[in-house]
Amino acid sequence: MKILTVNSGSSSLKFKVFSMCTDSLLVSGIVECIGQCDIGSFLIYKNLPKNLSKKETINATTHSQALEYVLKLFEDPEYGCLEHIDDLIAVGHRVVHGKDVYNSSILITKESLEILKSFIELAPLHQPANITGIEACMKILPDKPMVAVFDTAFHQTMPAEAFMYGVPYEYYTDYGIRRYGFHGTSHKYVAQRAAEILKKSFNDLNLITLHLGNGASITAIKNGKVIDTSMGFTPLEGIMMGTRSGDLDPAIVPFLMHKLNCDWETMDKLLNKKSGLLGLSGISNDMRDLVEKKNAGNDRAKIAYDVFIYKIVKYVGAYYAAINAKLDAIIFTAGIGENSIDVRRDICNRLKYFGVKLDNERNNVISNTPRLITANDSFIDVYVIPTDEELLMARDTFEIYKKINS
Ligand code: AMP
Repeated sequence: MKILTVNSGSSSLKFKVFSMCTDSLLVSGIVECIGQCDIGSFLIYKNLPKNLSKKETINATTHSQALEYVLKLFEDPEYGCLEHIDDLIAVGHRVVHGKDVYNSSILITKESLEILKSFIELAPLHQPANITGIEACMKILPDKPMVAVFDTAFHQTMPAEAFMYGVPYEYYTDYGIRRYGFHGTSHKYVAQRAAEILKKSFNDLNLITLHLGNGASITAIKNGKVIDTSMGFTPLEGIMMGTRSGDLDPAIVPFLMHKLNCDWETMDKLLNKKSGLLGLSGISNDMRDLVEKKNAGNDRAKIAYDVFIYKIVKYVGAYYAAINAKLDAIIFTAGIGENSIDVRRDICNRLKYFGVKLDNERNNVISNTPRLITANDSFIDVYVIPTDEELLMARDTFEIYKKINS
């Protein structure tokens, strides 16, 4: 009962193998620089139960070649995790966009693959890479069920008042201009973990989940359903991120295009790759660098840090109002949310009048297990819950495998 999860980027292939009998991770790794570097691609590979890892340069000019190499390694007597490749029962693929067509994971068929291809214009950077990974797997493992797990699916319960933009209605009907939301797998995973920790039914949960990584988004969950999320038509909207601007006055876009005499592609790159923490600080998109520089007195690092915190606090306030019911918890997750003591402290302290009472000792703990960071008498509980998108992908894939084999 082993499941492979694949997260395929334009030049990378991340993979994990899970044993579904024990819900445990057996192998994880990544092949980088596929078809890019003159010197070859790089493989990083870990077998967790055997506590073995390897890094090597391999010859992979395509995703298929990378996958073939990795599948052989799975059968390797020393590094492998399978006796035979047939021990894999199914493959789960991360797919960035399921539009408003898919509100849960699906079995990939020839027909559904065509539908996924029709969403490419909504996610031109990621969707083609995801499809390349699916096609490579279908070619090499033609008999294995393939499942698509969407970044957008969990958010499809949003009501129209949250997903519609104030532009002419026909742009919604003709071009699909609406909020879709992203990071859905992560928000769903931590919400499910929160239900277990709080011993509450998922359908009764009211949460605000903060996925704070290099990409970052915030989601309002009421009675187990997403009612709003900060990323929008694309992952550019919402809070400020590592290199993405997040929300801004839309009029800035044509103004800057005029000033810089640039086309929309340059503008798109500027807002996605050169803005956010990196653009504001001029130093780095990495929160560790910014905290260090800010503490050493660097003004630009401080501005970037302060804007990051402020925008998050504003969203939490707005989502508390949108939920309009007693909140069960606020959840921090992803690289910054799980690891930055400073960011969590500064956000929680600005939510004092909402009823968040931070326990500094609890917040200062460095751990990779879920934990409460507020005081016992805090009106709102705040938790750090490490995300595990691949485990949720594997579980969804397993559910679909069981359905088609029942
Ligand atoms: P992710 O996209 O979830 O992998 O998160 C990556 C980001 O997490 C990095 O760019 C850092 O900004 C941040 N990060 C990771 N470790 C730490 C840490 N110990 N303190 C602060 N930020 C961290």
